[in-house]
Amino acid sequence: MKLLFTLSGIQISVARYFLQIVCIFCLVHSTLIAQNNTLFTIGSIEVKNGEKVSDSLIVEKGIDEGTFIPITIINGANSGPVLTLFAGIHGTEYVPIITLQQVLNEIDPDEISGTLILVHVANIPSFSTRNAYKSQIDNKNLNRAFPGKKDGTISERIAYTLTNVIIKKSDYFIDLHGGEFNEALINFIYFYYRHPSRELNQKTSMLAHAMGNHYLIPVNYNHVPDSFDNYWSELVAIKNNIPAISVECGDRGMIDVEEIEFTKRGIINVMRTIGMMEGEVFRTEYPLYLFDEKELNSSYNGIFFPLVEEGQYIVKETLIGYTTDYWGNVIEEFRSPSSGIVTVIIKVPAINIGESVCHVHKVKDTFED
Ligand SMILES: [Zn+2]
Repeated sequence: MKLLFTLSGIQISVARYFLQIVCIFCLVHSTLIAQNNTLFTIGSIEVKNGEKVSDSLIVEKGIDEGTFIPITIINGANSGPVLTLFAGIHGTEYVPIITLQQVLNEIDPDEISGTLILVHVANIPSFSTRNAYKSQIDNKNLNRAFPGKKDGTISERIAYTLTNVIIKKSDYFIDLHGGEFNEALINFIYFYYRHPSRELNQKTSMLAHAMGNHYLIPVNYNHVPDSFDNYWSELVAIKNNIPAISVECGDRGMIDVEEIEFTKRGIINVMRTIGMMEGEVFRTEYPLYLFDEKELNSSYNGIFFPLVEEGQYIVKETLIGYTTDYWGNVIEEFRSPSSGIVTVIIKVPAINIGESVCHVHKVKDTFED
């Protein structure tokens, strides 16, 4: 109002004309939305077209305590596919969590076709206590608890909620991970191939090649046992005929701005690739495919000293690292079982019996799909 008093007569006319234009635009816009007005619902959360709603899914108390899952639904002004992004299945994988906060702020629902579902921190019990791999409540790994159990432990009930309320509503699904606070890793993507559905294989491969990661790990669907019920999230999606990938971005508990930008760029490119956003699309040129994973595990509790870097190419028998007892005596050495690339290496001293210390993969520039 104060501004109007300072305007000249001409300026007031211009302002009125501008307001009329805005009103006409709003009318046309609301008509368009009305024409395309479908409520998108997740649990009891309802989102109109052109709206962005953040809320929590409640996981009720069961045989152990309950929790919540913070989510956002961005329902585009126009119809299109439903893309779901998970972060925080593991509690100290921070780059995906921060990336999704930025996606929430930067995506305008009026500029997208379809619906984007963001699960900001899937595993609040693990995140809030900074527990890597497992929840401190039931000592279970959420990413080995899918599709979950309605009356199971807290991790199983989180998985059950995520599977039935969110994953099954998706047309595309991406689970974003990274190295836990003790893991250094290269950014790679797991994707299934040789599923009986050719269309599913094509769409899954399309997602994998749209994120921008240079290292891709094809996983042969024929090797998945039918009766296997401790899935990871993307396998549950695949078993429900939903194209899905698992992405690794960032590591060691760090918030790396470049990693966040890289991940966000991949998400935007996926949205463009599947028709949710306008804009030029890229496909990862010359990716490297990783095969024949070898994992080395510790036989002792002790203090681990890594001698190789993530991304380093090593030959068979290379000394990867060693473990000492608490007084400095070497009790175990780790040598590479094959020549290949170090995809994951533990980089904090604490190591326990049975825990992984290193992953090595063989590298190819093509794969037979
Ligand atoms: Zn993870």
